[in-house]
Amino acid sequence: MKPALEQVSKLQNLDMRILELKREVAQLPKQIAEIEKQLDAHTKKLDAEKGVLSANQRERKQKELDIQTAQQKISKLKDQMLQAKNNEQYRAFQHEIEYAQNEISQSETRILQLMEESEPLEKNVKAAEIALAEERKEVDAQKQKAKAQTAADEKEISDRAGELRQLLAAMPPEIKQTCERIRKKHNSPQVMAEVVDGRCTACRIALRPQHYQNLKVRDEIFFCEACGRIIYYNPPTQVVMS
Ligand SMILES: [Zn+2]
Repeated sequence: MKPALEQVSKLQNLDMRILELKREVAQLPKQIAEIEKQLDAHTKKLDAEKGVLSANQRERKQKELDIQTAQQKISKLKDQMLQAKNNEQYRAFQHEIEYAQNEISQSETRILQLMEESEPLEKNVKAAEIALAEERKEVDAQKQKAKAQTAADEKEISDRAGELRQLLAAMPPEIKQTCERIRKKHNSPQVMAEVVDGRCTACRIALRPQHYQNLKVRDEIFFCEACGRIIYYNPPTQVVMS
């Protein structure tokens, strides 16, 4: 490579690296937001399952209370029945007792149902809690990693920017301006391109034969006539057969 182009190549490499690091720094918070969103969805799902389980448990407690109340009512009715004044009263008490007994039996059936339903619910909640705790740990670790990566990237950006400033200060102004112009035109840090088999590797367009020939032999800076980038030619390495 021609010596003048070595600075351009260094400039391009520094620019590209800084751009890459900046992209990574911008990307990391998005990655974190994505995994946090997932964690949040799992937490909400667990909360919903817990809600179903606690509704089950509440209903079961209520049914147990209902049974107690009905039992107390029955024993009171039995006392009252002893003091029944006539057959009609006696039957009325008996009827009420039967009604309460029926209530108890319905509550018992419902309790059994609820117990059956709660078994898989409890298992689900327990498993989901364990999985979620693992996930939280993993998310925390990833956040720490992203934080460390961001700090390292920012440090490197600052170091590279320092190198870039030094390089720019040492570059001939006209080359510096040329690079800036190409950079702006393509909105990309790639300001130079190798010519391989007579084509610019950046825009893929073939050079005019005379232009190609001049590039190969003359010690000056050449531009791709199609994309305007600085072009260079590396002669193929001779392989000596022994
Ligand atoms: Zn080109």
